[in-house]
Amino acid sequence: MTHTRVLIIGSGPAGLTAAIYTGRAQLKPLVIEGEPSSTTDQPGGQLMLTTDIENFPGFPEALTGPELMARMREQAERFGAELRVTKVQRLDVTSRPFRAWLTDDDEPSVSADAVILATGAQSLMMGVPGEERLLSHGLSTCATCDGFFFRGHDIAVVGGGDSAIEEALFLTRFASSVTIVHRRDSLRASKIMQERAFANEKIRFAWNSQVQEVLGDDRVSGLRVRDTVSGDVRDLDVTGVFVAIGHVPNTVLVKDQADLHDNGYVRTHVGSYTSIDGLFAAGDVQDHVYRQAITSAGSGCIAAIDAERWLESQGL
Ligand code: NAP
Repeated sequence: MTHTRVLIIGSGPAGLTAAIYTGRAQLKPLVIEGEPSSTTDQPGGQLMLTTDIENFPGFPEALTGPELMARMREQAERFGAELRVTKVQRLDVTSRPFRAWLTDDDEPSVSADAVILATGAQSLMMGVPGEERLLSHGLSTCATCDGFFFRGHDIAVVGGGDSAIEEALFLTRFASSVTIVHRRDSLRASKIMQERAFANEKIRFAWNSQVQEVLGDDRVSGLRVRDTVSGDVRDLDVTGVFVAIGHVPNTVLVKDQADLHDNGYVRTHVGSYTSIDGLFAAGDVQDHVYRQAITSAGSGCIAAIDAERWLESQGL
């Protein structure tokens, strides 16, 4: 079993910023990055599924999500962080040192004095018939990953937030038309994103439209929606559907151990402190309000400083 003073779980902006800070504090953090095959906790987190990032300070020309994460990873390694591309299967934070299992073995693989949980969040699904069956067969949650396959198609994006608009705008590079299917008559997205969507001639809107079913046998052939005002049901003639309706936090490792908010996010107080002494939380797993790359990175910094001071206070 490996012992580490700081175990960081997750490698999005929160986890890697925590790694940079704890690395520079000579704590030699171990970062468990997640696995490439998993949509929930892949290395680099949700930014790996993002196109251009225009609002991360210091990059006036914009850069891509994967590029930003590659830079953060390089920076963390430069200061002595050890990064492992694998998953934490189980975590015990009921007694110290904490223990983490990276395999199915009975014996834990890692013991840690402090843990920074930065496992992020994952895409919400609509929960309608056809959705699960047609996932990866014309239905996707990632325009960056799959947009290329929809060259010349008429497609729909479900949602009215920044993610939906960002996906829709990106998809206009490939698709003949993109219909934004939203359950209300106004968007939640920021004004600048709304303006870009309204100005894009490939983008159409299906307002007050609640998705009832994703149609198709082995590939998406349409989207059945109900008008929330008239109650009428109609089928949109699309061959691709992108779901962008928000996220749920990845709390499976701690949900029976640490306090969570009613909406499932980890409860933090005074910076990144959780209900468990020595367990700190950073990024989207504990933030249901801001959820930006920069706020996530900021909270990773807070968690690193909290962990460092806590270790010192414990004489560890
Ligand atoms: P969001 O802001 O929570 O928006 C989710 C959208 O999906 C809302 O329009 C919501 O409708 C709709 N929705 C939720 N559940 C639904 C369901 N079951 N069926 C149909 N529609 C449903 O989520 P987000 O767009 O992923 O954004 C999350 C955060 O990241 C936000 O703070 C956002 O600003 C930020 N973000 C920023 C950027 C950027 O700046 N470039 C890009 C992406 C995300 P209602 O409006 O009716 O609730």
